[in-house]
Amino acid sequence: MFEKSIAAFEAAKKVLPGGVDSPVRAFKSVDMAPVFIDHGKGSKLYDIDGKEYIDYVLSWGPLILGHANDQVVKSLQETAVKGTSFGAPSEIETKMAQLVIDRVPSVEMVRFVNSGTEATMSALRLARGVTGRDKILKFEGAYHGHADSLLVNAGSGVATLALPDSPGVPKDVAAETVTVPYNDLDAVQLAFDRYGEELAAIIVEPVSGNMGCVAPSPGFLEGLRDITKAAGSLLIFDEVMTGFRAGFSGAQAVYGVEPDLTCFGKIIGGGLPVGAYGGPLALMEQVAPAGPVYQAGTLSGNPLAMTAGFETLSQLTKESYEQMEKLVSELLEGLQSLADRYGIPLQTSQVGAMFGFFFTDEKVVNFETAKTSDTERFTKFFKVMLEEGIYLAPSQFESAFLSTAHTEEDIKATLVAAEKAFKTIS
Ligand code: PMP
Repeated sequence: MFEKSIAAFEAAKKVLPGGVDSPVRAFKSVDMAPVFIDHGKGSKLYDIDGKEYIDYVLSWGPLILGHANDQVVKSLQETAVKGTSFGAPSEIETKMAQLVIDRVPSVEMVRFVNSGTEATMSALRLARGVTGRDKILKFEGAYHGHADSLLVNAGSGVATLALPDSPGVPKDVAAETVTVPYNDLDAVQLAFDRYGEELAAIIVEPVSGNMGCVAPSPGFLEGLRDITKAAGSLLIFDEVMTGFRAGFSGAQAVYGVEPDLTCFGKIIGGGLPVGAYGGPLALMEQVAPAGPVYQAGTLSGNPLAMTAGFETLSQLTKESYEQMEKLVSELLEGLQSLADRYGIPLQTSQVGAMFGFFFTDEKVVNFETAKTSDTERFTKFFKVMLEEGIYLAPSQFESAFLSTAHTEEDIKATLVAAEKAFKTIS
């Protein structure tokens, strides 16, 4: 079924480390060759063997309108013929910044970069620059990209591959990162009692998406807001995944908590490489050339990337989220009732158009509890689903995503496949 992909992977392994340009897509944790993609349209992906899949990965989140959205493609074509990069200001950057500012109330000014990693790395530099402090606090199992400070106790691929903290991160840099369990305010308070004067910021995924999908407990984000305010450190929401995904204005609007700085990525680029960080004027005007905190990028604000992001955000309405949420709920209710029928322990979670499920009977609130999942069972489930034409992330420790292109029929087909998978693994 996957002959051409297997051959393509063998060829890729000779010239790319592990055959890929980003670790989790190698399917290592599920012990098979990854599917090589030919093209995508709407909710569907097509591999090079000609097999069709309903896609719940969506390029790891960005494609909230589905693959090759007509309007996004048309605008990209119109933009491309005018030139692909200028390294000089263009008006689409201002238009795009205004759109983000209008949609996310805590953001008054924004700087565009080229990835989520750059966004979090730059936001940390700004936090350190304005507070004059070096330490930061992050949560176990959270993934904020691969900058040195942020690879400590990280989620996503680092968790999936059970890697220790990466070689190559200087010890002195790692020592400035304090980690505590997600959803544990007491642990955060203890860390601040110990290091308060030294902590520049807390960086948090407001909905944790890189240990699977784990929602914040009631009061958790509010608690982080209070603790950082009292300590004179900044609260950074890493909304690279949750931005324009957890809801129309991101997770901060869903939970009603305003961070000092917000990081974006994924959806903000509509499938092209973009990241951004933003916040109030007083902070953002510290960024060069307005202020002294240096950060730059040859391709930042690239016209193609800005266009894809602008066209994507422009098509999203509050109703789009209601529709996606409804379909996700239907899917998760269906999965839960099938799991119950076949006697398989399953925990599900959903925030807006992101969701997850864990093969465990323990309530999942942090990385420790996420790790109680039966990953072997997940692997078997994943493989049957793939054969049945359902494309899921190849790891228990990732979130799943839905787009506005997904339909009731997609959900029904997914549940039919899931029943086969549950039968096989029960
Ligand atoms: N932050 C979060 C919350 C993420 O999920 C990711 C990527 N999955 C990143 C940062 C890093 O983004 P990128 O891969 O674009 O560098």
